[in-house]
Amino acid sequence: MLIAKRDYEPGDVIISEQPFIYILDDQIRGSFCDSCLQESGSLTRCSDCMFLYYCSSECREKDWEAHHKYEECKVFKKIMDDQVVEQFDRQMLAIRVYLTLRGRPELKDKKFDMPDGSTKSFNEIMTNEEHLKNSPGHFRSFLMVSELLLSVVSGFEFQEFFNVFCRVCMNSAILGMTLSMTRQLADCIYMQYSMLNHSCRKNSQPIYKGMNHEVRAISKIKAGEEITTSYIDVLQSREERRRLLRIIWFFDCECIRCQSNDDDIVMEIDSLDVMPLNDRNLEKMLVLLDKILGEYSPKASAICMTFLMENCPLNQKNRSRLLEKAKKVITVALGVDHPFYRILTSQPKDAKSYFEFCMKFMNLIHRAIYGFS
Ligand SMILES: [Zn+2]
Ligand SMILES: [Zn+2]
Ligand SMILES: [Zn+2]
Repeated sequence: MLIAKRDYEPGDVIISEQPFIYILDDQIRGSFCDSCLQESGSLTRCSDCMFLYYCSSECREKDWEAHHKYEECKVFKKIMDDQVVEQFDRQMLAIRVYLTLRGRPELKDKKFDMPDGSTKSFNEIMTNEEHLKNSPGHFRSFLMVSELLLSVVSGFEFQEFFNVFCRVCMNSAILGMTLSMTRQLADCIYMQYSMLNHSCRKNSQPIYKGMNHEVRAISKIKAGEEITTSYIDVLQSREERRRLLRIIWFFDCECIRCQSNDDDIVMEIDSLDVMPLNDRNLEKMLVLLDKILGEYSPKASAICMTFLMENCPLNQKNRSRLLEKAKKVITVALGVDHPFYRILTSQPKDAKSYFEFCMKFMNLIHRAIYGFS
């Protein structure tokens, strides 16, 4: 839980940090460098495990020193030889963290400065061990990875690995790379971000600049209030949101939206008859978006652009209004120092370039929210 130590205005940067540790997503290994995460047509493999790919010898050396030399190369070689890659997928980050902490034990207790003035080490972030122990899916996957580690790593300790496994399950963040959130670039642990609890009506927004991760206020936050983020897509019914939070993070959401009896986005959108969006229901739709996502949510601004792209029957005045709303949000949520800011706030010159502008706008917003490439 992160409590604001001071007042924040919308757009204020609360957190700015690099990942504590990360690993490239399995699905794109071979097309992206395992170290710098850049796409490249000329990658070379680690000559020992043949599993990881690098764009340069600098990247290879950097990765070797940071974690690959700590038995990871041996473990990945085993995965490669046994062809079990498919099965592991998301547990790779747990393997990397476990082996790195074994090789560099000082990292376990290394204190990181938190935005509220406190400090926290990896060993202090949430584990939820009891819940994960009783979750058949998680426990099965823990046993499967343990079996592999046991066969390769001398002095492998179940309890120690379980501890790391739980912290990774509960705190990893996904660095994405495309419009559809289905493709992800890497799994990461961000130490400061891991402090944030969920709310279906969050007051902060993570924004990526490359691998750097910023969390910005998207509404006024007073000193003493909790700073929150969303773990799931909040444009879902209360029932669905609470179900997902319960099965993945093991808690019953009691946020302001979940407590309100009139909060059911699915029903509200249905009753508004917003599809297709038109001049008559535009106002209601914008109010609804503010209510659900907050006044300065970049996601709301991406939704406004979707309406423009879908050619909703709106008059010119309302089309301009949607565009202006989207741009106003961007100014606050991304900030004028963001590399995308100038592109997103430029004016499309004519009708032809308008559609292209909307497409680009959507694309850049998603990249800012979910990650780069
Ligand atoms: Zn590289
Ligand atoms: Zn290797
Ligand atoms: Zn909730």
